Amino acid sequence: MSDVPITFEGMPIMNALMSGLGTDHVALLTSRVRSQGADSVEATSPLTGESLPPVPRSTAGDVAAAIDSARAAQRGWAATPVRERAAVLLRLHDIVLSEQTDILDLIQLESGKARRGAFEEIADVAQVARHYGIRGPKYLRTRAVRGMVPVITSARVVAKPVGVVGVISPWNYPLTLALADVLPALVAGNAVVLKPDEHTSLSALWALDALVRAGLPEGVVEVVVGGASVGEALVAGVDHVVFTGATATGRTIAAQAGERLIGATLELGGKNPMYVAADANIAAAVRGALNACFANAGQLCMSIERLVLHRDIAAEFLAAFVPAVKGLKVGAGLDYSADVGSLTTSGQLERVIAHVDDAITLGARVMAGGVQRTDIGPFFYAPTVLADLPADALCAREETFGPVVSVTEVASDDEAIAVMNDTVYGLNASIWTARPERAARVLAGRVQAGTVNINDGYMGGWAAVAAPMGGFKDSGLGRRHGYEIIDAVTQPQTIAIQRGAAWGVSLDTLFELPDGKGQALLTGALKVLRTVRQA
Ligand code: NAD
Repeated sequence: MSDVPITFEGMPIMNALMSGLGTDHVALLTSRVRSQGADSVEATSPLTGESLPPVPRSTAGDVAAAIDSARAAQRGWAATPVRERAAVLLRLHDIVLSEQTDILDLIQLESGKARRGAFEEIADVAQVARHYGIRGPKYLRTRAVRGMVPVITSARVVAKPVGVVGVISPWNYPLTLALADVLPALVAGNAVVLKPDEHTSLSALWALDALVRAGLPEGVVEVVVGGASVGEALVAGVDHVVFTGATATGRTIAAQAGERLIGATLELGGKNPMYVAADANIAAAVRGALNACFANAGQLCMSIERLVLHRDIAAEFLAAFVPAVKGLKVGAGLDYSADVGSLTTSGQLERVIAHVDDAITLGARVMAGGVQRTDIGPFFYAPTVLADLPADALCAREETFGPVVSVTEVASDDEAIAVMNDTVYGLNASIWTARPERAARVLAGRVQAGTVNINDGYMGGWAAVAAPMGGFKDSGLGRRHGYEIIDAVTQPQTIAIQRGAAWGVSLDTLFELPDGKGQALLTGALKVLRTVRQA
């Protein structure tokens, strides 16, 4: 933190940033961008529209240099014992928790979200860092497997890092999504080149700085800043890409990765449903829906955009839900006073307005919200509930990614499942019922979604970091979290040994025995293995 207080007249955001992180720290963060150019990215804070500190912009040449340098640093990092790599993650865990005030401010200033949403990012990074810090070495253990013939052969599988992993992260969770995939990639021995969205690059740079302070050698993670062209240059040079963002962009990246025969892990959009069954606890479902629909102002891949209500409880649910939505506190404070914050970009605000206006023109009824909140800040929008939404409305089919939810009534569980599955997406789904075990056994398997949360909107599935998270259908490819992301950023190498060669017995010598004796011996051995059920 700087000793010299610098104040920005009439600019409360900049003053908050400088009094928290300090001028020197902000300068250090921006100096960490790989950039030779004179150009910079000038983002504004959605909270007030004030300018944030300029961040150097990278060129395609900078991206290539970042990949080369990460590739060089990766060799030493991969040779570092896995427990030392994991220890960096555990130290990062402690830094994020102890310095949460600084990073909470920065996340709010860049993304416009309410502080409670920003805290979700702190908790999430701590969870992921702890998980891979402790479980990472176990996930990466060399696995002994059965050789072709017991005793004289053996085989083992080694998880080798792919090399340099490219991570392209969006603006909606600037800290979480800058680190969620970087941490497993690092523990597996990869280097990473990270391209955060240009609206939220300072939070990603804070993450890099915190990693270095946690003991990560300089150069193992590089950050490049810019838009689509910088992202394309990244996919052109890395060994695996992890992307979070829009489905259309995911298709472009998958095609580019396919050309290069590199892997792509894609976490894309959703049009996530929540079904409230006839036997659900209504008070709990209302509370759950408020959070699931409006957390992060709806700018969350797993957030609920479609409420599917059993007709037996629909009136009771809406009688409690609609007033509660109207009572949500929308605000811009750098404290825990607001329930809902701002949308992050002007483009996102335009999308929300377009979806709601289109729905109203086509006959939808606004039960709550439906208006911009310019009285609070430039991109704020009131939490909105729509009823009677026609099937051809934009926000009936496309992801809105804003504080807008529609309501549909159904007559049975079967009809609910059909409505839930009536979308090209399949990321998250939620079911509320008094019989959760039955829902897990009977209903969840019929829902086409990568995550099904029972008596919860999204948190349980996301925060179970040992479990894979990702989408069916157009919601993605591959998975983050759990062993699955480790599998994606490593390549298995099988090492097979003919132990018998030392004693003059190998598969070759068996096959060379005269008159088919070797083949007869092997036939007998295969029958024995089948009988004793060895696989
Ligand atoms: P986007 O997919 O265009 O951008 C996300 C990231 O990808 C950004 O960092 C961007 O610079 C980069 N990018 C864009 N084109 C690229 C390309 N061709 N190659 C490589 N990188 C590229 O998303 P957006 O414009 O920021 O938001 C639009 C919509 O995407 C939202 O309304 C929402 O529906 C969805 N979205 C989803 C998530 C999610 O968590 N699944 C996050 C952000 C946005």
